[in-house]
Amino acid sequence: MTDRHNAPTHEARLQRALLSLDGLSVGDAFGQLLSTQSRSARRIVEHNGLPGPHWWHTDDSQMAMAIVEELAATGQISPDSLADRFTKRYLADPGRGYGRGARLQLQEMARGTGWRQTSTAAFNGRGSKGNGSAMRSAPLGAYFADDLECVVSESTQSSVVTHSHPEGIAGSVAVSLAAAQTWQSRGLELKAARHSIWQATLERTPHGETWEGLQRAFAVPLEMLPENAARILGSGFLVTAADTVPFAIWCAIRHLDDYREALIATLEGDGDCDTNCAIVGGIVSMFVGRSGIPEDWLKSRERLDLNFLP
Ligand SMILES: [Mg+2]
Repeated sequence: MTDRHNAPTHEARLQRALLSLDGLSVGDAFGQLLSTQSRSARRIVEHNGLPGPHWWHTDDSQMAMAIVEELAATGQISPDSLADRFTKRYLADPGRGYGRGARLQLQEMARGTGWRQTSTAAFNGRGSKGNGSAMRSAPLGAYFADDLECVVSESTQSSVVTHSHPEGIAGSVAVSLAAAQTWQSRGLELKAARHSIWQATLERTPHGETWEGLQRAFAVPLEMLPENAARILGSGFLVTAADTVPFAIWCAIRHLDDYREALIATLEGDGDCDTNCAIVGGIVSMFVGRSGIPEDWLKSRERLDLNFLP
């Protein structure tokens, strides 16, 4: 736990969350932009050139903004309040590519049903084990980066609103932990930073299918081509946490010090392109800082409509 006297200020934590949100939302918009040409990402970026503004962002950024707004307002995650923020954002702008399961839950919450009921009733009472709470959770890890126990508990609180299956929660927790430990490792040399991020993530992610995928990812050599790593780990074609998070964290760790390369590699793995890139962008931005996000990419992403002035 953080020493009370050395506790970082809310403002410092919030600035970290906003940096991760920039990394996440640029990744989301970039991944969405090239989702139908993912295998050609490198050629497009390096030779053909990317289109100018405005790159459209999807549900990943919308939900991550709701989390950052919740943290900005209260410094913690209250599932009741977060459910309200998710629902309001969905109603204001429903055409952001929400998955079917998320749409059904958000529409039900908008009709007044509580999140506990909608979240546990999802997928015939099993709860969602989709990647939808992982895709939004890097900024939460950034906010609580100085306290990994807090990362686990707050990320769980954030996930259960829509993804109450243990695998959905594990996906959210793993991504938050990776983002938090990436911040903690930002001054280290690459090899030490990579080791520290794997260790923190594997040690604290709840055990299950997603954790087993992380173990497999840890063993995949970083020299392997992303498309081959994706064949081993999955890259989100199943849109589950277990099929998405291990590959995304592997890509982030492979290119910890190069945001642009990280996102190109992530796209080369194909799969759930906007979500994979959102996760990777939210993590890698913790290592490279805002100046590490290509300036023209940041300018090309459509403006974020946060309900407070950053
Ligand atoms: Mg999306």
